[in-house]
Amino acid sequence: MHKFDLIVIGTGAAASAAAFKCRKAGWSVAIIDSRPFGGTCQLRGCDPKKVLVGVGALIDAVRRMNRKGLKSEGAHIDWAESMLFKRTFTDPVPQRQEEAFQKSGIATFHGVARFAKPGRIEVGSDVPGSPVRFDRHRRQTATAGHSRRELPEYQRPISGT
Ligand SMILES: Cc1cc2nc3c(=O)[nH]c(=O)nc-3n(C[C@H](O)[C@H](O)[C@H](O)COP(=O)(O)OP(=O)(O)OC[C@H]3O[C@@H](n4cnc5c(N)ncnc54)[C@H](O)[C@@H]3O)c2cc1C
Repeated sequence: MHKFDLIVIGTGAAASAAAFKCRKAGWSVAIIDSRPFGGTCQLRGCDPKKVLVGVGALIDAVRRMNRKGLKSEGAHIDWAESMLFKRTFTDPVPQRQEEAFQKSGIATFHGVARFAKPGRIEVGSDVPGSPVRFDRHRRQTATAGHSRRELPEYQRPISGT
């Protein structure tokens, strides 16, 4: 049984901020994600979107100005190249993010986390040989993501949204 002052579910912007801040204050912290580390914004949301939407907006602007002072014949979107470019900055994120947690002394775990009972979280019940069990040691659980339901005091939903 692992015991931590803070158990954080998710590794996106909200979860990372909570984890680093509490670790800096001397808490023992565990962080868990069922998907590659880094969260929506860096891997699937804001950052990739800006590049992919940016290409679309540019081609639209170029086509609108065609024959209005701009020769745009032949300009087109190369989707495969856009995706390759996107991957140059999304692919390194999971490893870089996990190493940053570990370097600051945050224990990292992979798998689906679920609340087994008040104060207890299980991770990876989907993985053979699991689950890993955690007890909230002194303080609380922070969850990042979408949940906005009423939760007991020891569970704190935090969202970057
Ligand atoms: C296409 C797109 C474009 C966007 N563009 C912008 C933008 O331009 N500007 C902006 O401000 N916002 C944007 N957003 C919104 C922004 O990405 C989110 O608001 C932000 O990422 C939320 O951060 P978070 O830390 O709350 O959650 P997330 O980053 O979503 O992290 C939640 C993490 O929790 C993990 N998780 C959930 N449940 C469990 C579980 N039971 N066990 C283990 N792990 C679990 C998930 O795998 C996930 O990694 C965009 C979103 C999308 C989808």
